[in-house]
Amino acid sequence: MMTSKIPERSDKPPILQRHSGPLATTRTTGKLLATQGYVVGIEISGSGSRQTVALANLEGKVLHKVRRPLDYVPDTQSVLKLIDEMLTQITGPEHLQDGRILRVGVAVGGLVDARRGVVRRLHHAHEWNNFPLQDYMAERLEAPCIIDNNANAAALAEVEYGALSERENGNRRGEQVALYVGLGRGIGGGLVVNGRIYHGFSSTAGEIGHMLVKEHGPKCSCGGFGHLEAIASAQAIVRRMIGLSIEYPESAEAMRKITDERAERISAEQVFRLAAEGDKVARQVTEEVENYLGSALANIIHVINPSVIILGGPVAQAGDLLIAPLQARVYALCLPEAREEVQIVQGKLGAEANIIGAITLALQDV
Ligand SMILES: [Zn+2]
Repeated sequence: MMTSKIPERSDKPPILQRHSGPLATTRTTGKLLATQGYVVGIEISGSGSRQTVALANLEGKVLHKVRRPLDYVPDTQSVLKLIDEMLTQITGPEHLQDGRILRVGVAVGGLVDARRGVVRRLHHAHEWNNFPLQDYMAERLEAPCIIDNNANAAALAEVEYGALSERENGNRRGEQVALYVGLGRGIGGGLVVNGRIYHGFSSTAGEIGHMLVKEHGPKCSCGGFGHLEAIASAQAIVRRMIGLSIEYPESAEAMRKITDERAERISAEQVFRLAAEGDKVARQVTEEVENYLGSALANIIHVINPSVIILGGPVAQAGDLLIAPLQARVYALCLPEAREEVQIVQGKLGAEANIIGAITLALQDV
C-alpha cells in the first residue's frame, strides 16, 4: 500500500506531484479536505463504446450525468473527443455554483497502471497502448485525477456505497477483505482490503477473468483458451446458449418467447430464468457457469480469505438463481475454515457501479 502525506488544510485542492515526465505521475493527491466543490467521474468501458461522465458533490451524490453509448468500437481519439463534449456539457458555469471541480476519477475497462496513471490497453478495443489518461484528464479539467481499472473502482464503490455499506452498517467496513467480481461482457475482479484497493506489484491484481479454469476450453478475448471469461461472462453465456439451441427446437422456441421474437438478443439473466423454468439447454449452460465460476471462487477464497464476494455486472442480475448454486459449489470445494465466514452477495449498484466507482475514486483519500 502506498503511503501519502496528508497536506495542511488549505482552500486550494491538493495538486498532483509531478516528477520527471508526463508518465511519472504518482497517486499522491492527498486527502480531499475541502468542504465545498465538486468531483467528476468518468467511465470508459472495455470496448470504449460506453462512456459516462458525471458531476457529483463531495458526499458522492450524482448531480448531473451524461451517457452516450456507441454501437461500434471507437478508437482512442474518438473516445476522448466524445468525453470532451460530455465534460463541456456537465461542467458549465450553471452547474458549478458551489465551487469548482476538485478531483477527477476515471474507471477504465482495461489494464490500468494505477500508479503511473496510464491505460495500458483495453481488453475489447485496439489502441490505448500506454495512454497517459490521468495526466490528460488532470490537464483538461485542471484538477488532480485518479484512474483505475473499472472492477477496482466498482469494488470500492460497493464497499463504500453499495452492498457492504448496508450489510455492515458501516461498522466493520474498514476491516473487510472484499472481492468484487464484475460479470459483464468480460470478467473483471477488484480486491478491497481494509478500505483500500489492492493493486498487487504491477497493478494486475484481480484480473480473474483470465484464470485458466478449463484446459482446451473456448477462446478468450485475450487470445488464450479456457479462461473464466470465455465461459462465465455475459457474452460467453449468450453465445453458448445460442450455439447449443440450434439443435434443440424447444429451446429455440423458449428463447424466442422470452425475448419477444428476438432470440439473438437474449441476455445472460434470461438464460438463467430459462434454466430455472426447466429448459435443458439453458440448464447445461448455467451449470457450466456455476461449476467453473464456483471453482475459480473457491480457489481465490483459499488464497485471499475474503469476508465477502460481491457479484456485479449483467450476469449478477440473475440474483439467487446464480448465487445459491455458487454458494453450494464453494461450500463443497472449500476447507470448512476457509468458507466459514465468507458470504456471496449481489452488488447493490447494478449498471451504475462503474460510474459510481469513478466518483468514489475521486473522493477517496489516496
Ligand atoms: Zn483470457
